[in-house]
Amino acid sequence: MATQTERVSVREEEIPLKAIKAIKFSILSPDVIRSMSVMEITTSETYDEAGRPMVGGLMDRRLGVVEPGARCETCGNPPDKCPGHFGRIELARPVIHVEYAKYIHDLLRTTCRECGRILLTDEEIEKYSKRMARLKVRWKLLADRLIERIRKKAMERTVCPHCGAKQYKVRFERPYTFYEEKENGVLEKLDQ
Ligand SMILES: [Zn+2]
Ligand SMILES: [Zn+2]
Repeated sequence: MATQTERVSVREEEIPLKAIKAIKFSILSPDVIRSMSVMEITTSETYDEAGRPMVGGLMDRRLGVVEPGARCETCGNPPDKCPGHFGRIELARPVIHVEYAKYIHDLLRTTCRECGRILLTDEEIEKYSKRMARLKVRWKLLADRLIERIRKKAMERTVCPHCGAKQYKVRFERPYTFYEEKENGVLEKLDQ
């Protein structure tokens, strides 16, 4: 993915000014992160013995440069003109973001371990969808309460209404470990 773009030098006056209307925070997918990044970080070394930035390290010149007189290998600009460019670290295993652990816990408790579907019958899904469509337009508070009821209902199911698989209690241990409580109190760790 590490593509070397053409060297373009941009003067400050040439940069169009734009007003920010809104800022939205959300999660980027691995593919988006890969396409945004100019290189993969592959080493924890920053400089070699001669004091040059290590290729694939955090000071790699494709990410931008700090030394006066040096030019960024991605945009070709000197330090004061280069905006800096993203690199990425490919993780060997999936990692849970602690901020989302409680939502993952909810998802694990309301979906089937076998078929992955929500633990509601087709009739319930239809009934709740209709009610939700009506409420969310004008009654935000009531819609939130309905979500809570749906969540509880799905969590109470001990058998999946779709595939018939038995559902176990999912225990969450901070910061991000999940266990299934099997028969006789046996805890089985849920791997991502
Ligand atoms: Zn640059
Ligand atoms: Zn199922």
